[in-house]
Amino acid sequence: MALYVYKFGGTSVGSVERIKAVAEKVKKAHDLGDQIVVVVSAMSGETNRLVSLAREMQQQPTEREMDVLLSTGEQVTVSLLSMALHEIGCPACSYTGGQVKILTDSSHTKARIRNIDDTRIRMHLNAGKVIVVAGFQGVDEHDNITTLGRGGSDTTAVALAAALKADECHIYTDVDGVYTTDPRVEPKARRLDKITFEEMLEMASLGSKVLQIRSVEFAGKYNVALRVLSSFKEGKGTLITYEESQMESALISGIAFNRDEAKLTITGVPDLPGVAFKILGPIADANIEIDMIVQNIADDSTTDFTFTVHRNDYLRAKTLLEGIREELGARKVTGDDSIVKISIVGVGMRSHAGIASTMFKTLAKEGINIRMISTSEIKISVVVDEKYLELAVRALHAAFKLDQEVES
Ligand code: ASP
Ligand code: MG
Repeated sequence: MALYVYKFGGTSVGSVERIKAVAEKVKKAHDLGDQIVVVVSAMSGETNRLVSLAREMQQQPTEREMDVLLSTGEQVTVSLLSMALHEIGCPACSYTGGQVKILTDSSHTKARIRNIDDTRIRMHLNAGKVIVVAGFQGVDEHDNITTLGRGGSDTTAVALAAALKADECHIYTDVDGVYTTDPRVEPKARRLDKITFEEMLEMASLGSKVLQIRSVEFAGKYNVALRVLSSFKEGKGTLITYEESQMESALISGIAFNRDEAKLTITGVPDLPGVAFKILGPIADANIEIDMIVQNIADDSTTDFTFTVHRNDYLRAKTLLEGIREELGARKVTGDDSIVKISIVGVGMRSHAGIASTMFKTLAKEGINIRMISTSEIKISVVVDEKYLELAVRALHAAFKLDQEVES
């Protein structure tokens, strides 16, 4: 007998029919004798609807009240799913996050899970019931309702799987797995059978939206075997795992990209200690997140400093830089908010030389100018003009043979 945690996202429970379909799927697994804990999101669009309701009430509602409101979306789906299960003769019981004691810290709207008390769940599982738990929520030590940040139901599922030492955690969604890249950009993108936690984490932080980043971190930390599958199509999905040795022997596992980038440059900055801090300090103080940073080697005692920010923060960051330009004695502030970041990701990079040069050669052949480069152990990112995004992704996809099945 195995124990599984299944998580169904908003689209998978987006209507009465879909909830009934989920119930059938769950019953089938339960009938095979497995123990099943189900985590559900709110019906698709519901959390956004609640957010706009709140905005109509108050420009800046307190985060505590936001959490009370937002947590209701998931409470609707757990009860409806339990009813659907009862209707087809499957014993089930629904719980809010607070009821199963998903204890979090008190950072409302972005709380972190501290502890899960599994006694109640175990008791019901042993009595042969399916347990349906509301995703995305918990309570803090004072019993205030908290939520875990958008997409947080993934994290609830993984945390429950860790606490219950589940055999696998299945994330059912509207895609049938993790792809080599976004199939909307490259139709030849292929579903991966397996990917490592590290790669998945890079893919998630670099723009692939399949899983909430925090859930992948959590799964990696507690070694939860995580599988992404489609709620609508049969299939094995993608397993996210540690077992690197048994991985497909590909050099690169995937290509991620992020369209929401902008870059800023301040030129002719005196090459002195403390300059980077003087430039980035005010940006950080304004709560603007910085991604890539590049500083040139100075040849005339001045240097150029470039960094990227989220496109939404571009104008704010530019104004701040213009404000400090004179004091720094720098020459000019320039910027560009029509750039994108494209990254190739793969643990294969560790043991193979020449990946970077293949990447750069491929982009050169297409006449694509690289504006910035940054690397880590398992990824190489480049910034290019937005208009080249599709071309670059497809060319790289072909160059690294990602459309071809690899022998394991
Ligand atoms: N309902 C929440 C959201 O839309 C949590 C989730 O779906 O995972 O972000
Ligand atoms: Mg979601």
